[in-house]
Amino acid sequence: MTQRALIVGLGIGGMSAAIALKRQGWMPVIIERAPERRKGGYFIGLRDEGKNAASALGVLDVMEKRTPENIRFWDVRKDGTRRRIADLTQETNAPIAVLRGDIEEALWSGVEGKVDVRFSTVSVAIVNGAMQAQVKLQTEGGGETTETYDLVIGADGVRSTVRKLVFGPDEAFFHSIGTMLCAFPLARPVEGFEAGDGLMVADVKRTLTVFPLEGRPSTALFSYRTRNPERASRKDPLSTLRQIFSDLDVGGLIPKALEDLGTMDDFLFDSVQMVKMPRWSRGRVLLLGALAGMLGGQVLGDAFAACPQDVDSALKMFEARMRPFIRKHQRFIALRSQLFVPSNRFSLWGRRVLWQILLRSRKYCSRKSA
Ligand SMILES: Cc1cc2nc3c(=O)[nH]c(=O)nc-3n(C[C@H](O)[C@H](O)[C@H](O)COP(=O)(O)OP(=O)(O)OC[C@H]3O[C@@H](n4cnc5c(N)ncnc54)[C@H](O)[C@@H]3O)c2cc1C
Repeated sequence: MTQRALIVGLGIGGMSAAIALKRQGWMPVIIERAPERRKGGYFIGLRDEGKNAASALGVLDVMEKRTPENIRFWDVRKDGTRRRIADLTQETNAPIAVLRGDIEEALWSGVEGKVDVRFSTVSVAIVNGAMQAQVKLQTEGGGETTETYDLVIGADGVRSTVRKLVFGPDEAFFHSIGTMLCAFPLARPVEGFEAGDGLMVADVKRTLTVFPLEGRPSTALFSYRTRNPERASRKDPLSTLRQIFSDLDVGGLIPKALEDLGTMDDFLFDSVQMVKMPRWSRGRVLLLGALAGMLGGQVLGDAFAACPQDVDSALKMFEARMRPFIRKHQRFIALRSQLFVPSNRFSLWGRRVLWQILLRSRKYCSRKSA
């Protein structure tokens, strides 16, 4: 008999899982809280794992790619002087620059008309059994139904409701790294820089990074460190950033970027949370970590290809394949966060030296291969 999966969340993780499960003969149903697709989002660097997963899911070729041809990155100092640094999009496993919406659009092409997608629908209760799970679904008008599935997949983001319903409250799993992010598209090119130029303004506990994109406005990413990110995420981003960056002008660059934020309806303002769990599945409920994106869906599909009728073994295989990847990322997250938002003067200095070393080693390698 055809196995049915309920996927909660029509994001990158949810659509990837739906495509992968459908290929393995499952019948996925996706529910999404929003009344329509959430197409937004800004710069994302697609690394090898993401590229390979997109390729395995059959969406890499239809995905818009936005790495500028003449890309250069600059470290811009407080006084407005600049120094060329290693180019972020040419790190060891050369990420492709895309917008989150490009990934969403590509995955939607694999879902539209092939998977039952129900908007304005949420899960309000889950009875998790050994062989099946019963889910109470609620639609916007208040209508409720209870449906039975062979597998329920929580792909509903960092603040997952499925996790709260089945595993426990956020606080049990959240590990804050004390950083806030605000991403949005700049309304105009950065004065004095060329198309394809990316830049980083770094100071202790606060940074602005501008990611250039081909054919689209650059993404501005403000980051700052705070002791209480949950409280910070409830504040107004513009006035908060104006206050935090008030004494950092950088030749007018910071105030102009904040002026652009003031004209935007659409921006991402959130704390960076690491979700740590000893297991990602319980009974017939699986959480697709927000970190894993397309890779989570691909690995789930591989696990069901290896264990077609054995959900328990497939979930064990998923866990075994994903755990080392997630562990590696979480181990380096503190270091990465120092690269993005240095917490003290020593980190700020170390970060500058590192970018310079990367630039020199890249020049050396390209001379050797020429
Ligand atoms: C609109 C949007 C813009 C984003 N922009 C960026 C960006 O610029 N850069 C970046 O790095 N990351 C961004 N993200 C986050 C990024 O997409 C994810 O962290 C990552 O891709 C993993 O995706 P996910 O599918 O696990 O979670 P998400 O992308 O967060 O998707 C979760 C989906 O589940 C839905 N949902 C949530 N709760 C429920 C519920 N109870 N019932 C039903 N549906 C529910 C949400 O509406 C959403 O569509 C954005 C996410 C969204 C939704």
